[in-house]
Amino acid sequence: MHRHDPRRRRLIRLVVLGAAGAPLLPALIGAARAELPKLEESDPTAAALGYKHDTNAVDQAKYPNHRPDQMCSNCNLIQGAEGEEWRPCAIFPGKLVHANGWCAAWVKKPG
Ligand code: SF4
Repeated sequence: MHRHDPRRRRLIRLVVLGAAGAPLLPALIGAARAELPKLEESDPTAAALGYKHDTNAVDQAKYPNHRPDQMCSNCNLIQGAEGEEWRPCAIFPGKLVHANGWCAAWVKKPG
């Protein structure tokens, strides 16, 4: 391949761009996660499941099986990192639920 072969230059540019961009990936992924909106209690699915940001605010008459020690942070469907205030949940993709929240899909974390 000649030094000024355009294919070679294109290849070098791709390698250089790839190497420069790779360290940014974790930051980009982190930023995308941080931008997830918080679930609104008024969201139709949230309302249908009686979701509240605070487990103590759950309508006990409507959900007699609810207990105040049940909350998103000890639900098996919570995702994300332990200790975070707002975390993703398998039931509400693309939204964040409050660690102290609750909804009717609550399932005890095993263990
Ligand atoms: Fe919270 Fe679990 Fe309901 Fe998700 S499924 S909102 S983590 S109680």
